[in-house]
Amino acid sequence: MPSRVAIVRAEEYDSKILRPKIKLLIDRLGGLDSFFTKGEKVLLKPNLLAARTPDRAVTTHPAVVEAIGEEFIDFGLKIAIGDSPAGAHKGVRRVFQNTGMIDVAERLGVPWINFEAAGAFTVRRPDGLVLHLTNAIRDFDKVVSVSKLKTHAYTHYTGAIKNLFGTVPGFRKTAFHKSHPLTRDFAKVIVSVYAEVGATLHIMDAIVGMEGNGPSSGNLREVGLLLASSDGVALDRVAERIIGVAKPSDSAITTLAAMRGLGEGDIDKIEVLGGELAEFILQRPFDLPSRMPQQLLSTFVPSWFIRELAKVIWIRPRAIDEKCIRCGFCVECCPVDAMVIEGGAAPRIDYSKCISCLCCNEVCPEKAIELVKSPIARLFHR
Ligand code: SF4
Ligand code: SF4
Repeated sequence: MPSRVAIVRAEEYDSKILRPKIKLLIDRLGGLDSFFTKGEKVLLKPNLLAARTPDRAVTTHPAVVEAIGEEFIDFGLKIAIGDSPAGAHKGVRRVFQNTGMIDVAERLGVPWINFEAAGAFTVRRPDGLVLHLTNAIRDFDKVVSVSKLKTHAYTHYTGAIKNLFGTVPGFRKTAFHKSHPLTRDFAKVIVSVYAEVGATLHIMDAIVGMEGNGPSSGNLREVGLLLASSDGVALDRVAERIIGVAKPSDSAITTLAAMRGLGEGDIDKIEVLGGELAEFILQRPFDLPSRMPQQLLSTFVPSWFIRELAKVIWIRPRAIDEKCIRCGFCVECCPVDAMVIEGGAAPRIDYSKCISCLCCNEVCPEKAIELVKSPIARLFHR
């Protein structure tokens, strides 16, 4: 059977309006009983990147999670909501509070789970990577990814596959940035986590997405869709096509996951349920993030050459003094300690240490980290 991706149009973040749409979405894939058995414990994993309110489109909207939760509970599933946000050291409760997830959990009468507090287990993957994943995923029979459609300044796109990277607790995420500074290598980590977690179902909140320099500093973009599939690779490929990421080489994560046989990456082999794919493709594609040329080339050339190239072709973060509120999030998230706040000034960055992971841009609540390109990099900017 070909991989199938169900799509339903949805314009409003109102759980009552969304609930029948979620049901329709899952029915198109065969209904809940084709995925779950009554009484099973199911972990909902939304994208709770940071402590932003739902209107910022940085995180999965709580109305989507609530509609899914109601549907699952009525079916007879025991659910919980869990994630490990970036900047977890500043307090995970605050993230669940600001993103509206605690309210949803209370209304549903289900627990919310702090992956940091759940502890972690270690697994060595066949590709040699050693992963540390939250114990929470072992406490549940199945995991359901509830991702958010966004661009990503570092990985270009983020959706179903990358959402599961949140099962890596706290500082271990930034450690992977440090040990895998090239997008090509970081994609291997993301794909390994995706393979290890093995989510049963992927649902995407694409009602309002984020374009530009996402995943947190981009701009809101109304898309008006919900997507679902048992194949996160197929879901991401379809979502990419909808927003205008047309070439497989523009999406390292999805392409690598497909190459590893974790799902269908050939858009022509994916069955779209709910309409023809062409009718969902946006007339104006998403504004895509600036990409470092060495990332574009990294599929084809050796790492040493990319490092040499990076000396003249770069995109670097820079703190904007007028916007910065000196919260220190970026400093604490930097995996290589390249940032420092001194004398009340905005963070200063030591570019001899910086690995251009753009985590600082990702976590900044004020969009105060801009991305500056070298003169040659500007020639490559698309
Ligand atoms: S300064 Fe920013 S981009 Fe550079 S390593 Fe630190 S977090 Fe990453
Ligand atoms: S740049 Fe952003 S994250 Fe860093 S201290 Fe300023 S406001 Fe906070």
